[in-house]
Amino acid sequence: MNQLGKNASWPFPESPADERIAQLERRLERERRARQEAERLAESGLRDLYVSRARIELLNGISVRANESDDPLEVLRLAVREICTTLGFPFGNVLVADPDIPGAMRAAGISFARTCDSAQPFIKASHEVRIAAPTDDQAEQPVMTQVPVWTPDIDTLDGFDRARLARLASFKSMLTVPVLSGRDVEAVLEFFSMDQREPELELLDVLLQAGLQIGGVFRRRHHADRLRDSALTDPLTGLPNRAAFAQNIEHSFRECRATNEPAPSLLFIDLDGFKLVNDTLGHQAGDRLLIDMADKLRMLVSNANAFEDENPFASNVKLARLAGDEFTLIVDGPDRTKLAERFAAEIHLSLRQPQWMDNNPVRVTASIGVAHDDGHYTTVSDMLRDADLAMYEAKSLGSERTVVFDQKMRNNVQSRLTLVNDLRTACENGDFILHYQPILALDTEQLVGFEALVRWKRGDVIVPPSEFIAAAEESGVITLLGQWVMREACKTAVRWHKLVPDREPPLRISLNVAPRQFLQPTFVQQVREILNETGADPRWIGIEITESAAITKPHHTARVLEELRALNIQVGLDDFGTGYSSLSRLQTIPIDNIKIDQSFVRTQTRTNAQWSVVKAMLDLAHALQLRVVVEGLETEFQREELTAFGCEYGQGYLFSKPLTEEDAAALIVAPPEGPFRQMEKLIGG
Ligand code: C2E
Ligand code: MG
Ligand code: MG
Repeated sequence: MNQLGKNASWPFPESPADERIAQLERRLERERRARQEAERLAESGLRDLYVSRARIELLNGISVRANESDDPLEVLRLAVREICTTLGFPFGNVLVADPDIPGAMRAAGISFARTCDSAQPFIKASHEVRIAAPTDDQAEQPVMTQVPVWTPDIDTLDGFDRARLARLASFKSMLTVPVLSGRDVEAVLEFFSMDQREPELELLDVLLQAGLQIGGVFRRRHHADRLRDSALTDPLTGLPNRAAFAQNIEHSFRECRATNEPAPSLLFIDLDGFKLVNDTLGHQAGDRLLIDMADKLRMLVSNANAFEDENPFASNVKLARLAGDEFTLIVDGPDRTKLAERFAAEIHLSLRQPQWMDNNPVRVTASIGVAHDDGHYTTVSDMLRDADLAMYEAKSLGSERTVVFDQKMRNNVQSRLTLVNDLRTACENGDFILHYQPILALDTEQLVGFEALVRWKRGDVIVPPSEFIAAAEESGVITLLGQWVMREACKTAVRWHKLVPDREPPLRISLNVAPRQFLQPTFVQQVREILNETGADPRWIGIEITESAAITKPHHTARVLEELRALNIQVGLDDFGTGYSSLSRLQTIPIDNIKIDQSFVRTQTRTNAQWSVVKAMLDLAHALQLRVVVEGLETEFQREELTAFGCEYGQGYLFSKPLTEEDAAALIVAPPEGPFRQMEKLIGG
């Protein structure tokens, strides 16, 4: 208030000028106050604006990272740091849901601190904190709530274990922010402050939003985990599938090699009678059996914990279903070899109980192959191969067997690998020869052709086909070998034809064609090319296929055979009677002749039932207009019998063993005048 104004109004009467001045001064005063108020308002508005912009930026930063990242922990790390620095908290800490205990939380090992030494014990305790799942009668801890909670005075909190250390650190208030995925609390961010701040609703809302954004990262991670789990789980049995098994074993193997530990032992389990169940009781029954098997195996693995005193590593057993009726166990730990074999024994035992299916008692057994790591293995696939080989060995011994892969089997594998390698080289170098075994018309004993039989010149040794054809078939080398045989036989046919150009019908060389060679899509094409290249007439060539080729792909086989016959190449079914093909199936395979397997003619007496089988085969073949060749003729008796039965052709040691090309050529030029007996020309079988 103006001093002059006061004095001027008393004790003297106010003049008009004084009055005017006083008015002006009052106005000035009002304006100054208004300006001060306006300045104060503007200042606080700016501050609020600044604060809310910082909060929005904070939320933005967290949201952007949450949207980009698929790692929730990385986003939590960023969030705790940003919230502490933006809002001025000296310490922030992260808890995550305990994966093993539903409802419980534990420290995530993520925090941010800008504190003095006295806070260290509190920080340490916060890094180790575990919060049990709340019981029904327990008051809800702030960490378990679905919304951010501001606790202005930590001392008022019930059951806050770190209260004493918080006081030591001079922390007064606490803020918890839940990270929610749906209604699940995935994590909690806790912040501590030294002043007892008042709750701010707007800030709590920003933090709630931040928590929800981070929760989205957890949700995406769970979704990805579920997808991965379903890609690694067998839907029928719920067991880990082949991919999971491969991941597991590769991981263990790598780790063991890195640490010089032995790799886990492997069990390959294959059911024995499973195909029969599927075929006779149907696929649904088969599925039930597999589910039952999976349950039994699961039970064994979990029971293994019961003998934990002997085996403290039972939990290191991993079960998987590889495919169909194949299961595996990965057995780890120091006792792995003993334990693996014990599992094998228990599996056989547990399968003893038959299972009832549609009132049928079904009892399946298993064949088990075991491979232990004895330090030999450099790759996991070698170990898998050995467990598999051991399993096949177990199968070949009969049902319900376990075979542990051993040194002897390893040697066999090794020599098999060497054999296949050498065979491949032999194919490239053409280290083979063909021998030719005469085939005669039984009634006249006239030569009608030869069967080409391959031998391997392995160094100085002549190796018979029984020792390498199977390996060649399995490894695929047979396709190369088969082409070599066909080319050589065609060249021989051309040379022989020049010796007896007018011979009618011409001599025919029969070739053995393995299923794998025959089933190649380009087989007929190959035949055409070789005929063109060598100039051989297709009538000079015959092909022998086995029943297995004919059965594997009947439609394909029929088409190929028709094409061959259209080329004028004769086709025969070799080793007839040893395979699965029924006589009636013969009608559906377009062939010219069958070759009755030698095992049928080895019997000597007329009373033997096998002779009647041979007779029946002949009758049926004739009814189907097929000619019959019999192989393995060794005695006059057999020849007489078969001739009497009306068998057209014969081949066997009685007439001749397989001959070299030169000996065979000599025979073609000058056939014997009397009965065809070439015993003196023997060169071995
Ligand atoms: P296969 O086709 O059944 O050939 C007949 C086998 O019986 C030949 O054995 C032959 O020497 C033998 N043999 C012939 N007559 C008699 C006899 O009177 N008594 C006895 N005990 N045996 C007789 P080889 O030459 O050892 O051939 C064995 C098998 O190897 C052949 O059986 C055939 O399946 C296969 N093979 C031979 N050469 C080839 C070939 O070039 N390719 C393919 N894929 N397989 C071939
Ligand atoms: Mg043959
Ligand atoms: Mg045969």
